[in-house]
Amino acid sequence: MTTHPLVADLVTAFKTEGRIVIVGASLAGLRAAEALREEGFHGSLTIIGDEPHEPYDRPPLSKQVLKGWVPADHTKLPRVRPVEADWRLGVAATGLDRANRQVLLADGDKVGYDRLLIATGTRARPWFNAEEGALDGVFTLRTCDDAARLQAALRAHPARVLVVGSGFIGSEMASVCCDLGLPVTVAERSDAPLVGPLGGVIGEIAADMQRDAGVDLRTGVSVEALDRDADGHVRRARLSDGTTLDVDVVVASLGSIRNVEWLEGADLATGFWGVGCDAGCRAFDINGVVTDNIFVAGDIARAPHVLYGYQFLSLEHWDNAVSGAEVAAHNMVSLETQRRPHLPLPSFWSGQFGINIKGVGVCSFGDEIVFTQGSVEDRRFAAAYGRRGRIVGAVTFDHGKWLPYYAAMIERSAPFPPPPPGYDQPKDARPVPARFRDPRVPTELPDVVLTGHDPTSRGAEFRPTKR
Ligand code: FAD
Repeated sequence: MTTHPLVADLVTAFKTEGRIVIVGASLAGLRAAEALREEGFHGSLTIIGDEPHEPYDRPPLSKQVLKGWVPADHTKLPRVRPVEADWRLGVAATGLDRANRQVLLADGDKVGYDRLLIATGTRARPWFNAEEGALDGVFTLRTCDDAARLQAALRAHPARVLVVGSGFIGSEMASVCCDLGLPVTVAERSDAPLVGPLGGVIGEIAADMQRDAGVDLRTGVSVEALDRDADGHVRRARLSDGTTLDVDVVVASLGSIRNVEWLEGADLATGFWGVGCDAGCRAFDINGVVTDNIFVAGDIARAPHVLYGYQFLSLEHWDNAVSGAEVAAHNMVSLETQRRPHLPLPSFWSGQFGINIKGVGVCSFGDEIVFTQGSVEDRRFAAAYGRRGRIVGAVTFDHGKWLPYYAAMIERSAPFPPPPPGYDQPKDARPVPARFRDPRVPTELPDVVLTGHDPTSRGAEFRPTKR
């Protein structure tokens, strides 16, 4: 397609003289900045981050850092290429003035932009009772400072650790406690760990893994209150089944909250699930009209996905932050006809209880599951998820080398159950219900959230509940 020279000149001029501001100086922010320079953007680039640290990696925080293998301040993200930019670290963006194209900062400064990337991610959901949450010995885990504090508490050999919530991060923390020889209780409101992202069938396997490793796993219960001693340290947890537990350390692993507050009043499509954007990472305004100069990437983005019925997906996965940042950066400095869609096949991983769990697709979009390879007893298997006769996701336990096989089928919407790969066939390869929760009864939230407008879709509405 030929482009009018005037339009092409505008893009070229923008690449030389334009001003881009990125808010959020973490994985998505850094990778977008690198990609912008890679795309030939030579204009001014400002990166604003409320944390004082250079961009660092979060996945090791709940794994190697908690184990004490790596200091919490040693997970800086490797730089793919040098980035010439004005780094404004340790200062939060507090507002967005779209009319004047300015980001307002907590220190009173204003930074002008021609194009803006929103990459402010999420934060840990705090304990529901602020007074209890402030007690010594009560933690959440999102930042490297959180990890440093929690690791120090674990190093002090607490008599018992209580992890509240057993999604991926809660389960990883319980696993670390076992590795460190610490007595650990996990309290989970669902009937098994990992039910949100992987359903009850896999949850049962995860529960067995935890119990075999020595975790005191309590399911179907919530923690209703935390009691303190005279020094303001947490000492006891009261559970909904009437039991109490003596504890020294409590880690609330209750999911995350998207950092959208600074956008209040900016009339963008912001809300509980993040910032709505199109598949090209352009933010929607409050009326659902796409903006042309504001882009979104990473955990905070919420975009429709062609493979999943055009439902809006909010993905909290490392790979999604990287690929979203790269597409957003490309589209920020490209002619309209050269823009790319961000339609990643979601993928995730987790290491816990000696097992490498990997997944691809959106498992929670499925309602059936079939074990396709390996052996559940040996905890070395692959399983596929299906919905309405097509494969939508897959998970592997110590069987990750097969993921590309399933990814290719998901990408072409292959039939479910998928044909057996002819290798390592399990004893029983019949599909069964995957046992995801009823989305209208929120407990902990899955790390992939489907929020379409179909009233039967999962994750329809958030109603805050006490755990
Ligand atoms: P974030 O990393 O959340 O970064 C957003 C940044 O913006 C933060 O620095 C935040 O402080 C800053 N910010 C927020 N508001 C403002 C503001 N108003 N002004 C300025 N700055 C602001 N994913 C996997 O796929 N596999 C894993 O094994 C895995 N393990 C994880 C373990 C832990 C403990 C955690 C916390 C996450 C893990 N993840 C994992 C998820 C992965 O780390 C995230 O998907 C990724 O960090 C998202 O990057 P992001 O840049 O979008 O958001």
